Amino acid sequence: MAIKKVLIANRGEIALRIHRACHEMGIKTVAVHSTADADAMHVRLADEAVCIGPPPAAESYLNVPNIISAAEIAHADAIHPGYGFLSENARFAEIVELHNLVWIGPKPEHIRTMGDKVEAKRTAAKLGLPLVPGSDGPVEGLEEARAVAAETGYPVLIKAASGGGGRGMKVVRSEDELETQIMQARTEAKNAFGDDTVYMEKYLGNPRHIEFQVFGDGEGKAVHFGERDCSLQRRHQKVLEEAPSPVITPQERDRMGAVVVKAMADMGYRGAGTIEFLYENGEFYFIEMNTRLQVEHPVTEMITGVDLVREQIRVASGEGLSCEQHEIEFRGHAIECRINAEDPRTFAPSPGTVKNYLAPGGMHVRVDSGLYGGYRVPPYYDSMIAKLIVYGSDRERCIMRLKRALEEYVIDGMKTTIPLHQKLIADPEFQAGEYTIKWLEEWLAREDAGPSS
Ligand code: ADP
Repeated sequence: MAIKKVLIANRGEIALRIHRACHEMGIKTVAVHSTADADAMHVRLADEAVCIGPPPAAESYLNVPNIISAAEIAHADAIHPGYGFLSENARFAEIVELHNLVWIGPKPEHIRTMGDKVEAKRTAAKLGLPLVPGSDGPVEGLEEARAVAAETGYPVLIKAASGGGGRGMKVVRSEDELETQIMQARTEAKNAFGDDTVYMEKYLGNPRHIEFQVFGDGEGKAVHFGERDCSLQRRHQKVLEEAPSPVITPQERDRMGAVVVKAMADMGYRGAGTIEFLYENGEFYFIEMNTRLQVEHPVTEMITGVDLVREQIRVASGEGLSCEQHEIEFRGHAIECRINAEDPRTFAPSPGTVKNYLAPGGMHVRVDSGLYGGYRVPPYYDSMIAKLIVYGSDRERCIMRLKRALEEYVIDGMKTTIPLHQKLIADPEFQAGEYTIKWLEEWLAREDAGPSS
């Protein structure tokens, strides 16, 4: 069915991102917003806007009845959830479809399966994806946990089945810590996610985080758009992402790409997805699948030239994928810096009002952000206020251009992580591409202790 009007159930840069793809396709947009976001850019640019509640996300951006009512009032025919908020809520996807609205996302049953990490690993194993060694399903008692750890060897990682955003994980270094760590992990998981199911994985010593962007048409056809390297993390949160990975060879990309494409085709997956792997000593280990658009999707767009949101809308309206695998080419290099309203040293949130704003420009520079001069960053939501994405014909040129773009970027009125990115990309190890998921935290500790701080 041709989509004419999309309700965007999100805020900030991703709401804008979706709005832009819609308008370029001649599709009208309906923004929803909390009372704290009445002046937000995504509200200003949309064709229509509906207030859906007070500032706390639980009462606005997660308020299903209000969002569905907004879609009905505005006569939207589809809903795009963006990332975060309701994007991986299978029940919400079902409700959207029950109201005869097009859900611009994967099939609800796939969202549900992949949202439960234990179920996701089982499914991945069945689909032929390589797994991190660990428990076969949830871990119930201490005896079972001991047996799993004996097989994988210490250290092991206890993970919450309903976990997300890097929360609910505990590293266990030896058997005497096992019991207390499992109990703690269960309590924390219960409090954070309302589910105390935990499972275990071998804790990999020094892997990289490499993820594949996949797309399915829902009818057995699938393609991949290559990998992204998201190893630069702080507290399991991504800070800077790049595509392609500095360490993956074209042969490895083709090999793993074929594996993930086959898995998605066999599953009948629909829409955009990301299959996350840890990568160590030349081996890939599946950790999870995200059934939505990712924050870092622009680096993939920069090196493939494909608009992934447009692709999502095409697939949702039944037009199928716009390209065959052999038509997808990887050219050059792209890096994304997540710019947060935070102190660049302590990472304390620093919301405030933007006084002067000047975004960088020039060739191959993209800024995805809802910031403007005079805008007040509300304290209620995620601290990410902008994404700076830069392309270069190779990694070295990309880094030089990124340095230039970061120099130009002016966001007055609050602390941001721009200085952190400037220091980070000047580091010789970063420039050599020699980093793993532990590297950034160690680097931050060194920087903090160093004379320059
Ligand atoms: P979440 O859904 O909370 O983001 P993930 O399973 O995606 O959880 O893991 C988040 C991050 O935690 C990974 O990017 C990686 O840095 C680290 N991690 C996860 N599993 C392991 C493991 N088995 N060994 C080492 N690090 C891990």
